[in-house]
Amino acid sequence: MLLAKTVSVVTGGGSGIGRAIALTFAREGSAVVVADLREERAESVAAEIDAAGGMSLAIGADVSTVAGVDHLFARATSVFGTVDILVNNAGASIGNDLRTIESDVWDRNFAIVLKSAFLCSKAVLPGMIDKGKGVILNIASVNGMMGLSEEAYSAAKAGMINLTQNTALRYGPYGVRANCIAPGTVDTPIWSERKAVDPDVMQKLAVWYPLGRVGTPEDIAGAALFLASDAASWITGVVLPVDGGLTAGQFRMGQGLVPKE
Ligand code: NAD
Repeated sequence: MLLAKTVSVVTGGGSGIGRAIALTFAREGSAVVVADLREERAESVAAEIDAAGGMSLAIGADVSTVAGVDHLFARATSVFGTVDILVNNAGASIGNDLRTIESDVWDRNFAIVLKSAFLCSKAVLPGMIDKGKGVILNIASVNGMMGLSEEAYSAAKAGMINLTQNTALRYGPYGVRANCIAPGTVDTPIWSERKAVDPDVMQKLAVWYPLGRVGTPEDIAGAALFLASDAASWITGVVLPVDGGLTAGQFRMGQGLVPKE
């Protein structure tokens, strides 16, 4: 098992990508703290882990606030004693058009995506530095790498990429690795409102991907497992697009230039 004898915290672990990461890490031997704003979601994923023979702890917490993060890590360390792997996965995209977005909504995007990663990293770093080992994995987005709309959310994700790089530089000498995954479109409940308006949105987005489909939560969990494990012990500060080739180039333009076979 790749994560035997470790304790992981997965924020936003009650749904979609976070759920898949939590289940995968537990299957690989990690005791997983499933943290989610929606406590019932965290409990449901923790129950899935337990039913499969894994070890889990569900915690309801808003990781965009100091109080929520204090609560999360006080509970997690009182039960498991330590945190070896932190996955900053909680995220949401709200509002966005610069002409109409209110200042507090802009701030909320940054709090959910970026401040949460800062607060949770701050909470785990002293323990990781004491042990001389630890992994921080930030779930950013291809939106943080290029212009794809959702301005506030995307700017916060770009900040998350830079936060990852600086975390890797400053704490690498203490044995802490920090990496970032930038997922492309992944079919999760985050898309449910959009699907309600346009049921074909996933099929429409799939044509932009060289691999011909959007992603699954398990596509991201596989990359997360690799980066969290000792198989990646000399990898830090990277931004790994897990995106079916979306950011490799201008796929549709390239297709237009290549003669049809
Ligand atoms: P999701 O909505 O299925 O799950 C996100 C979970 O985070 C939810 O359970 C939600 O309750 C929780 N959450 C939200 N705010 C929180 C807070 N303040 N504190 C604690 N928990 C909170 O979404 P998902 O698609 O699984 O997204 C997971 C991550 O992946 C997000 O950071 C998202 O931005 C990123 N991402 C998703 C996609 C995609 O297409 N699905 C693409 C790129 C990046």
